[in-house]
Amino acid sequence: MHSLPTLPIDPLLPEIVRTLDEESSLVLEAPPGAGKTTRVPRALLEHPSPRSPTSLASGGEIIVLEPRRLAARLAARRVAEELGETAGETVGYQVRFEDVTGPKTRLRFVTEAILTRRFVRDPELAGVGAVVLDEFHERHLHGDVALAYLRHLQRTSRPDLRLVLMSATLDAEPAARFLGCKSLRSEGKRFDVRIEHATGADDRPLELQVASAIRALPMDGDALVFLPGAREIRRAQEALEKLAAERGLLVLPLHGDLSPAEQDRAIRPADRPKVILATNVAESSVTIDGVVAVIDSGLARVMGHDPWSGLPRLRIEKVSRASATQRAGRAGRTRPGVCVRLYTKIDFERRPEHQPPEIARLDLAELLLELRARKVDRDLTWLDAPPPAALASAEELLTRLGAFDAKGDVTPIGHRMLRFPLHPRTARLLVEAEERGVFDDATVLAALLGERDVRTAGRARFDRGFGRDPAHDVATEDSDLLQMRDLFREAQETRFAPNIVRAIGLDPGATFAVDRAHKQLRRIGRPKKSEPGGASLATPDFQRRTDTDLLKCVLAGYPDRVARRVRGRTLAMSGGGRAELSEASVVRDAPWLVAVDADDKSVRIASAIEPDWLIEFFADRIVESTRTTFVRASERVESVSSMSYEGLVLDESPANRPDDTKAAELLAEAVLADGMASLARFAPEGALDAWVARARFAQTVDASIPRVDDAFLRQVLLAQCAGRRSFAELRATSFVDAIQTHLGPGPTARIFALAPERITLAAGRSVKIHYEPEKPPHIASRLQDFFGMNETPRVGGGKVPLVVHLLAPNQRAVQVTSDLKGFWERHYPSIRKELSRKYPKHAWPERPES
Ligand code: ADP
Ligand code: MG
Repeated sequence: MHSLPTLPIDPLLPEIVRTLDEESSLVLEAPPGAGKTTRVPRALLEHPSPRSPTSLASGGEIIVLEPRRLAARLAARRVAEELGETAGETVGYQVRFEDVTGPKTRLRFVTEAILTRRFVRDPELAGVGAVVLDEFHERHLHGDVALAYLRHLQRTSRPDLRLVLMSATLDAEPAARFLGCKSLRSEGKRFDVRIEHATGADDRPLELQVASAIRALPMDGDALVFLPGAREIRRAQEALEKLAAERGLLVLPLHGDLSPAEQDRAIRPADRPKVILATNVAESSVTIDGVVAVIDSGLARVMGHDPWSGLPRLRIEKVSRASATQRAGRAGRTRPGVCVRLYTKIDFERRPEHQPPEIARLDLAELLLELRARKVDRDLTWLDAPPPAALASAEELLTRLGAFDAKGDVTPIGHRMLRFPLHPRTARLLVEAEERGVFDDATVLAALLGERDVRTAGRARFDRGFGRDPAHDVATEDSDLLQMRDLFREAQETRFAPNIVRAIGLDPGATFAVDRAHKQLRRIGRPKKSEPGGASLATPDFQRRTDTDLLKCVLAGYPDRVARRVRGRTLAMSGGGRAELSEASVVRDAPWLVAVDADDKSVRIASAIEPDWLIEFFADRIVESTRTTFVRASERVESVSSMSYEGLVLDESPANRPDDTKAAELLAEAVLADGMASLARFAPEGALDAWVARARFAQTVDASIPRVDDAFLRQVLLAQCAGRRSFAELRATSFVDAIQTHLGPGPTARIFALAPERITLAAGRSVKIHYEPEKPPHIASRLQDFFGMNETPRVGGGKVPLVVHLLAPNQRAVQVTSDLKGFWERHYPSIRKELSRKYPKHAWPERPES
């Protein structure tokens, strides 16, 4: 074995080993390059605690969690090399798409999803002596979860488990307090780094800014350039070609998607000055010796989530001040260096000190499902607790997906979802696909959802610019996802030849990523029914059935994102709210759909559904209701039965329920909308007022008759409306009759008797009696009609004399009186003379009363 170079961490190793012999946890803080990753796990491997029952002496293993694939791979290879082995022997690594471990492996560098799956398979971590959480300062979600879970294990079934937190910048105190353990620190040597900021905004493309910065460097050592991602790295590589040739520079990319050989090339010393174009892997995970200049774009791809679906999304963001400082520090490891920031000092100063931990800002659905399945989510204590609102929406979504039952326990579906290292929405989609025998295609959909959009811009032409020429119109499709699947299959048939992939409108890089992800998912799944191999084997009819099943699978993953097309591209969303279908979507006609992805209420990816499927899938969420309203136009109360899903009406049909009190109330309300007077419409002209006046008069005479007041009339109306739904039906019965029916025969007869409608005068003429509120009833007739009547006629059972209007032949009143006898005696003699003169043809007897 060759001798190892001495690293700053080395003097601390004995103390680290001793501490972990006596205590269960340790927090270790040392700057990047100090030797944490390559030396500490190895020291534990070589000096295991004899007190631990799963000590390495008895064959226990060490797991190191790395936030990045590249770091896990490089660290394992380096440690193996330092032991005189190759990776896969004593030291190995396991990352997505790659497992380099063997039966001898006892030190295992893994990435986050791998550790999570280990927890699921082996919740007690049987046989594991120690877990090291590396790069803990990054505060990735999985690091925080692992910390909480491992702490829980230590407190319950695994008090012997050793736990080490390693970090480059973390202020170790809170973590050490949380674990109740010691923190050790190695300062290491650091040299001054001169920082140059951009003096103003530079709107040139990033790669040109990088090229100018490199051109201006003295280049007496290697330069490290921080860029957000592989794409930016590729562009910068092109932009630097000429300068590299001129100056004899070696331009080397460094990011997670490169082959191990390419990654090694970037790190290995070279005979020419190197320009390493790296993502933030070089910030603290990987140390490249010989770097004296750093060029910092100030940007990074940061894990976030799509606010619409909760699915993970990488976004380019400005790095925090702490990251920027860390990046600059990479230029001062071996001697004083320089850092050129491609952003201004003010920009730097306005940035937040730290990026908040992922647990405070990411979607937690996947996490909650995992922890609930292990039945620990309620028992964990956290360094920083997950926000209650995020947990609540995760709980809600998992319940909707059928992963949790009503009690919140993980269902069989939930357990099946856990096999997939995916957001629960996508996992649910795949579980449904296993059931329906469309798993292979569904893995393509899942991969399309998980990776970045494979469609290149320009391909999406939702009738833009083609409106006038139907020949160029893009045919409507059921689903953007199925359309992308078709394109993907097309690309697959050509074995992803980049020129063909581009020609059919796909991005080769993204398409390759989808292919890799879909193959991985295919290995995990257990399709239930037998599926034919490739889609190309399928008949059109089979294809149609497959597609229908796939659309159902999409619905299974997005039960809360159902939309109904209101008109054009306007969508009404389940649960309320509106959204627009983007021009990028090919789902032009479908009246019902699932809004799979949207930015700012513009739905980019949609997938059609049939409303019946909602009933099939979510019967318990369908609300049946009957809405009854009065319709002015038809003057009818109409009832409509509807079935709705989260406020979206699936189906409506007229409903008639015979004794619907609600309908009667609505009808009565409609009658009275313009006040009590409108009741008169439901009786012959004038009849209602006249009858009511008579009834009211009768009541003043006989208190036993019910008061026919507004309240009474309202009661009558309600009784009338019972069993009826329209004005037409109400008109069929006079409202006067209705009142009489309501009063009953006794009181009605009394009213007729006490307040007769007419009276017959002595001369034989029948006259109408006028009843008015607050006034005694009166009659009017020609004076001669009263000849022969000595007494004033009476009503009210003889109690109330009528007020009599005595009219001359010209119909003018000659006298108004309620004392006919007194009239004959006192006034008639003089009036008679006058009348005799004026109307000599009429007879004017001297004593007409007798
Ligand atoms: P830390 O984890 O503290 O940042 P590492 O253990 O990763 O430090 O690295 C310590 C030192 O080991 C680095 O400064 C570097 O010089 C060297 N080193 C680590 N890995 C490699 C590698 N794959 N190739 C060459 N040198 C390496
Ligand atoms: Mg490290």
